[in-house]
Order: sequence, then structure tokens, then C-alpha cells
Amino acid sequence: MDTVRNPTGEDRSGKEQRLLKEGRKRYVRELEKQLGQLNAWIGAPDDEEYAVDTAKQIYRVVHTLKGSAPMFGFIRIGSGAQKLVDLWEWTQHDDAVINGAFIMDRFIRTSSLSEPILRELELELDIYSRELELDEHHERYGSGMMMSGGERMLVIDDDDVLRSYLVRRLRMDGYEVDEAADVAEAQRLLRQKPYQLITLDLMMHPVSGYELFEFLKDDPTLKWTPLIVLSGRNDVNDKVRCFYLGADDYVTKPFQYEELSARIYSLLKRTRTFEQMAFRDPLTGAYNRRFFDHQINVELQRITRYPAPISLVFIDIDRFKSINDTHGHHIGDLVLQGLAHLLQGNIRSTDLLARFGGEEFVVVLPNTTGADAQRIMESILRQAHLEPVAQNEGHMFYITFSAGVAEWRPGISVQEWTALADEAMYEAKQSGRNRIVLSASCLSSPLPSNATASGKRSKVLIADDDKILRSILLAKLKHLPVDFYEAEDGEEAYKLIRHSAFDLCILDGVMPNLDGFGVLERMKEHNTRPPELKVLILSGRSREEDVSRGLELGANSYMHKPFSMVELELKVKEMLQIYT
Ligand code: GH3
Ligand code: MG
Ligand code: MG
Repeated sequence: MDTVRNPTGEDRSGKEQRLLKEGRKRYVRELEKQLGQLNAWIGAPDDEEYAVDTAKQIYRVVHTLKGSAPMFGFIRIGSGAQKLVDLWEWTQHDDAVINGAFIMDRFIRTSSLSEPILRELELELDIYSRELELDEHHERYGSGMMMSGGERMLVIDDDDVLRSYLVRRLRMDGYEVDEAADVAEAQRLLRQKPYQLITLDLMMHPVSGYELFEFLKDDPTLKWTPLIVLSGRNDVNDKVRCFYLGADDYVTKPFQYEELSARIYSLLKRTRTFEQMAFRDPLTGAYNRRFFDHQINVELQRITRYPAPISLVFIDIDRFKSINDTHGHHIGDLVLQGLAHLLQGNIRSTDLLARFGGEEFVVVLPNTTGADAQRIMESILRQAHLEPVAQNEGHMFYITFSAGVAEWRPGISVQEWTALADEAMYEAKQSGRNRIVLSASCLSSPLPSNATASGKRSKVLIADDDKILRSILLAKLKHLPVDFYEAEDGEEAYKLIRHSAFDLCILDGVMPNLDGFGVLERMKEHNTRPPELKVLILSGRSREEDVSRGLELGANSYMHKPFSMVELELKVKEMLQIYT
């Protein structure tokens, strides 16, 4: 909601806020009436006299709207009304109105130009009324009117007005929503993050929505994402084609938001249930072996595209048989549930817990080195020492477990990887149980050809908001004796530079929040630049003043996008003094 401040800039007092809210509520009702009135007025007039009268009334109403809406904080309504005022301004010049021959034609033309703006205003009004409704509900019952479980969805539509409306409404319903105005942008986002649902407009430029079906079908990680087609065409052939291509639902524009929202809700619910049935272990709620086998391959595909460490942990309860033997199978089951709960509660949402069979669990930890995974597991084991994993009739059951950790290394298969973790787990059992063993394969230096002349690996930070570019850089430079770190905007880059000693920062000139020049400026201003840090600026702009500004602020070198990878590698090696 737009925040409203009084003319002196201070926040309004509580009482004033309440009055304002009351005013907004009443104003929204008034707006509804006025938009209805405008809708009835525009169109083809019956006769000249009606046209003259009505045109003047329309002007009066839109002129009032323009002035009043912003006072209640409805800024977008105000600017829409301004556009209408400009369109109907001619009614204020007597000669135009008096000249009856033109009035009919003029009225019709201005009406048709006004129509899309009125639609826009109606969508805005809908957003504002929903905000007030949520607000009121919140006051009365506290939060908890959300439709969603925080699922992330992607809205793909080239109609800016509709897209912005949909995104805002869905966010109000508690969904996390990203938006794309064309197929290329959608593909970029889909490669970056997982989405639980996609809405897709078919008629888009320059590439039609149909293209996206192909893209989704070819990617095993995206193939099953629930997809709703939003189409302006109520054509049976289009519908049939979409369903065969893999759409889960088809909604014709214009639609009522409530209907779309209900369809989204039901589709998400159904997907969750199916996932639950097919991929979960019924006893512990952890993923099952089938899902693990599928997902581990998905993770590895991701890693080959965007190199990053990833670790696998094998966990086996110690002396579990004796729990079953002493207390019965039922208690054994409670213990299994308890351990699954403990593990799930201590890993990130991006980590994956699966029951591998019997009393064995696996955890996959993306973006985690073997050593870090070992630390995480050790802390979970310490918790198991402190708290009972299950309780029954006043009886507390404590367990310990043994685990083996293996970090994935390029070139090994999933089987070899699981075998490494399994062997490490076996070693943990052999050496006395109740411990976490890191696979010996993680202890040797990761890549043999990675030593510099001094034997030291360099630390390089890649700060660029373009994730694809970052991953290309990583892939092309990963054979160098360098540990790479990533930042997706200037703020993050600045923080990392403050906390870690980098040898080189590859800095994108243009980024959100704080751009590359901003980072340099801030380091200069606060005197926080580490003396050993070199900076290479990458910029899409080849303007002379950009280059000199970068160098003035302390960049050591500058490259224009697009650049050749060979050139970049040479530059990086030169800056890091790597001679191989
Ligand atoms: P170690 O420390 O060497 O792992 O000893 P252990 O007793 O845990 O090893 P073992 O693999 O011999 O025993 C596993 C037991 O787990 C045997 C089996 O009865 C029990 N088990 C497997 N699945 C379940 C289950 O779903 N529920 C229960 N209650 N027990 C199970
Ligand atoms: Mg066991
Ligand atoms: Mg076992």
C-alpha cells in the first residue's frame, strides 16, 4: 500500500491513521460508483445534445478523480485519471463543443481511447479493495487469511497491466510471485529457481507462449511443473492443443480473479497430494528411495550447469535392532519418526532428506562442502545426545547414529558417490559408532592440477546479477587454481569483500541495489578496500566516461560485454599472476 505522509513529512499519528483508513474505505466505494458511471457514459452517444452533456460530465468526474485519488494514497488511480483528463480536455474549449458536426465523431474516438484506461482503473480498484479487505480481516482476526502455503509461482504475460495486476493479487494471497514479460525472460527465471506453478499467456511477442511448452518438456526438472494457460482465445482447437502439450488447466481472458485463484489453489493442492503419495515414505514423511533416485540426478544436472559443491550423507541408527527387540516394533517406528523429525528440523529447505530403507536415511546438501556437511551432522548428533528422539508413556528414548559424508567430485557417477558415503558410514560403525566420518575422497586436494607457483589457491569473487553469466564464468574458469564465490548484487559483494580476503573481484558495472561503481565508491569512501584486492569491471556499456570512472575509483582493469572467454581467462590469469 502506498504510505501516506502529511505535508511536513512526519508519520501520521494513530488517530489520523484511523481516520485516513476510514476515509480510504469510503473513497473506494465512491470510486466504484464513479467508474461504473464512466463505463455507462462512454461509447456511442444517441445524439449531439447527449454527447455535449455527457462529455462535460465525463470531464468533470475524471478531473475530480485526478485530484482526489492521490489524496487518499491511490497514486495509480490518480495517474490513470490524469490520462483521461488529457483525453477529454477538448470539452473545455467551447468552439470544439459548439461545433456539432464533430462532436459525435470526437466523442466516439475519445471513448474508445478511454476504454483501456478504464479497465486499468478497474483492476487498480480491485487491488485496493482487496487490500482494505485484508486489512480489515487482519484487524479482526489477526493474520491467517492466506490462500497459499507460500508457494512460488511465475506469471508469464506480455500485457503489462494484466501481469502487474495478477502479480499483486497473488502476492496478497500469500504466494511468492515472479513475473516475466516474454518467453526468454521466463526461461531465464525457470533455470534459476524452482516454481510450483506457472501461468502462461499464449499470445505473446516476439515469441508465442507455445514455445515454452517445448522448453519445459525437454527439461526433466521442469517437465512436471503445474501450468495454467491464460488465453484471450476461447477456441477449442487451442485448448485441445494446450492440453496435449502438457497444460493442466486453461482459463479464458477476461477472467474473474476469484476463479483463477480457486483453480490455482486446487491445482497446487492436488499436486501436493500426489507428490505426498508417490514420493513420500508413509511412516516418517521423508522422501522415499524412488524420489531420491530421481532427485539426485536432477541435482547433478544442475551442478553440471552451475558448478557448486554438493554433499551426500548416509545415516544409520546405532544398535537399532536392540530397540526393536527390547521395546517392540512400535517403539522402533516412533524412533524412526523422531529421527526423521530431528533431521528435517535441522537442515535447510533446499536440502533433501530421504529414507533409504529400514533404519537408514540419506541427506543431500546442495552448496555444501564435505567438511561443512560433516559439521552440520555433528551438531545434529550432539542434539540427539541431549534430547530423546521419542517418548512413550513417560519413557524417553535416546539414540545415537553413525554417518558417512561424501562430497561430489566431477566425473563420478551417482552409484560411486553413494558408495563413497556408504563406505564412510561403515567406517564410522567400525571405529565405534556414534560419529560422523568424512569420506577419504574429500580429504585429498580437490583437483590435482590446481597448484599455483606459490602453491596457494586464489580467492575470486564474481559479482554479477546475471546468474547465467556467473555460471558460464564459473564453468570456463573452474580449471584454474581458484576458489570462486558469487554475489548477485553490489550490496552482497560489498559485504563479502569486507568479510573475506579476496585476491580478485570480477565486478559487474550495472547491478541492482548497488552497482559495481557504487561498490568501488563505498570502498573508497570508507577506506575498506583490502590492499591485495584487484578489481576487474565488466560492463555492458562501452562509454568512455564509464571506463575512466571505473579506473578513477580504483578498478585495475575493464572489460566490455560481450567479451571472449579466452580474453577473460587471460586477463584473470594475468591479474592473479597464474602462469601455467
Ligand atoms: P548397527 O549399529 O550396526 O547399525 O546395528 P543395528 O541393530 O542398527 O543394525 P541392523 O541393520 O542389524 O538392524 C536394523 C534393524 O532395523 C533390523 C530391522 O528389524 C529394523 N527395521 C528396519 N525397518 C524397520 C521399520 O520400519 N520399523 C522398525 N521398527 N524397525 C525396522
Ligand atoms: Mg543400524
Ligand atoms: Mg542398518
